[in-house]
This record gives sequence, C-alpha cells and structure tokens, in this order.
Amino acid sequence: MKPTFEDIKQQLKAKNISLSYQRLKILEYLIENRCHPTVEMIFAGLHDEIPTLSKTTIYNTLRILEEAGLVKEITTEDKEARYDIATETHGHFKCESCGTIFDFSVDIDSIIPGDLSRFVIKDKNIYFKGLCPRCL
Ligand SMILES: [Zn+2]
Ligand SMILES: [Zn+2]
Repeated sequence: MKPTFEDIKQQLKAKNISLSYQRLKILEYLIENRCHPTVEMIFAGLHDEIPTLSKTTIYNTLRILEEAGLVKEITTEDKEARYDIATETHGHFKCESCGTIFDFSVDIDSIIPGDLSRFVIKDKNIYFKGLCPRCL
C-alpha cells in the first residue's frame, strides 16, 4: 500500500537516518503530492513555506532517500528526473497531453525475458505513454 508519513518516519528511524526540518518537509511533499515531481516542482511547491530551502538541499535529500530505498528516480523520456515515493514495483503511464504520470500495478518481478537469462538485471521499468481519459 501507499506509505504514510509516519510509515516512512519509522523506516528512517530503523535505518538510523535523521532528517532536518527542511528534509522532512521535502519528504512530506513527496507523500502528499503523488505527481512524480521534479526537483523544480518540489522547489516551487515548498518555496513559500520555506524560503530558505535550496535546490541543492532538495537534490541531496532525494539522494539520501533514494539510497535508503524510500524514493525512486523514475525513468521517463523527460530531460528532468522525476521522483516517486512509492517504491513497490509498479508501471508508469505518461499522458503526452497534460504530462501527468500515472501509476499502474504490474508484476514487474515476474517478467524475466528468456533472451536475458544470462544477464544481470539491476533495474526494471515499465513505461507507457499515450492520452489519459481527461485529455481524450
Ligand atoms: Zn492527460
Ligand atoms: Zn509511480
């Protein structure tokens, strides 16, 4: 299921990661805005509340959370990296019209292409694009 702020705080505690107020705010933003935001979007979303927040802090926080396995950088054809708080395996669908990235359930772990039986797979992504119902 989707993690809550408390779930993630527990996980951070278990991994001995303590986050400053600013970093917790970034985490909270990711939990509340399941839009697969870019650093730019996080910055714009938090700027009014935390005028002292820098993009560097956002990058660093995302890196820490990514290393802890709590955030995943998602693969799209966008130039800017987009981040996802949901780390359970799922696919992404990007609407070419509004740019929204939707999550969908898919059992990625069960996909092992026979052609790659002798390869080491380090990451799997399922990425579709098209038009969402709102834009149709
Ligand atoms: Zn759309
Ligand atoms: Zn996602």
